Amino acid sequence: MIRPTVARIDLSALKSNYRRIVDYLARERSPNPPGVIAVVKANAYGHGAGQVARALEEAGADLLACADIEEGVALRAAGVRAGILVFGALSVSALDGLFDGRLTPTISTPGAARAVQAAAARYKQRLRYHLKIDTGMNRLGFRYDGLRRTLPEVLASPNLDLEAVYTHFATADDLESPLFNDQRLRFERALADVRGEKGTGIFLAPASGENIPVPFSPYTHAANSAALLRDSRVWYDRVRPGLLLYGAVPPPLASTLPLTPVMTLGSRVVAVKGVRRGEGVGYGARFASEGPRTVAIIPAGYADGLDVRLAGRGSVLIRGRRAPIVGAVSMDMLAADVTALDVSPGDEVVIIGSQGPDRIDVREMAAAIGTIPYEILCRIGSRIERIYE
Ligand SMILES: *Cc1c(COP(=O)(O)O)cnc(C)c1O
Repeated sequence: MIRPTVARIDLSALKSNYRRIVDYLARERSPNPPGVIAVVKANAYGHGAGQVARALEEAGADLLACADIEEGVALRAAGVRAGILVFGALSVSALDGLFDGRLTPTISTPGAARAVQAAAARYKQRLRYHLKIDTGMNRLGFRYDGLRRTLPEVLASPNLDLEAVYTHFATADDLESPLFNDQRLRFERALADVRGEKGTGIFLAPASGENIPVPFSPYTHAANSAALLRDSRVWYDRVRPGLLLYGAVPPPLASTLPLTPVMTLGSRVVAVKGVRRGEGVGYGARFASEGPRTVAIIPAGYADGLDVRLAGRGSVLIRGRRAPIVGAVSMDMLAADVTALDVSPGDEVVIIGSQGPDRIDVREMAAAIGTIPYEILCRIGSRIERIYE
């Protein structure tokens, strides 16, 4: 049994996007291009984490990233063998999944360092971790200007090995914001702190007067999709694209890469209705029209992640034409104005994707309702079947 509204996930487009990013990095920074951390958090931006992760592995990805331990454990259960970095804070999580799932935690608070150290000691294991530096996002991470005070305890954790140091940009998609460059410089100073003077790998702890050896030279990463596109100085040892993998470019940036959208959201017309002059459509009876209209009813609504603000703002494609979404988006259906189009029940509808020469992409849909493409993709509901091809 399958409902008429389905999301088709083109795994060859995903793999091709991954390779195009790798090729671009290789071309722009040979002979030692940065590696990639393929971001598959939030069910791979709504595309289905297990299938997406395994396809990325086939395309050559050796390190994936997810939001929390639960997502990491789900990736392992789906058969993922690549490294898995967990971005999120761990202070209120059950930590067993780190060990059972062979996950790499991010340590971004002193409390997380203590909790993970204690768990590793209990498991009698050594654990590699990535250290997060807060260079201006003011969300997670050790503040860039307090490292000499906060890091000694973390670096001295007997069961924890520092594998990488990273930060995250707050304004990579805003070319006007000076914070991006400030964050880059703060990060570079922080790296010098962590690595110790002149690359000795010794972290100087002035408070105690002791030198704390950093177990081995950590590698570094910072760039999300927008940062990757805009500034090769922040590529460091690895880059962390998410949105680009799924074939969308974070607005307002323009793509320098030939990417293919991975998800197509389609449905079928389930009813066609004539509406008389002055009558409305759906809840609130909005869209009272000046003349007779024909509307097509499509079985997808806000329970499927289609935003109520699309009514009066967005369109769908039917018979190769744009049909404006009218009335109200309700829980399980929406209506599109198909006046003067020859539409019948059963006709194919494209909500995201192309039909004939026209295309509605997530960037367009997001712009129509004042949100970001990320939100559109992540909110595609669990009721919608993903079909992998
Ligand atoms: C989500 C996320 C990314 C990927 O961001 P995109 O804009 O989708 O490329 C990278 N790093 C961190 C820490 C993230 O949370």
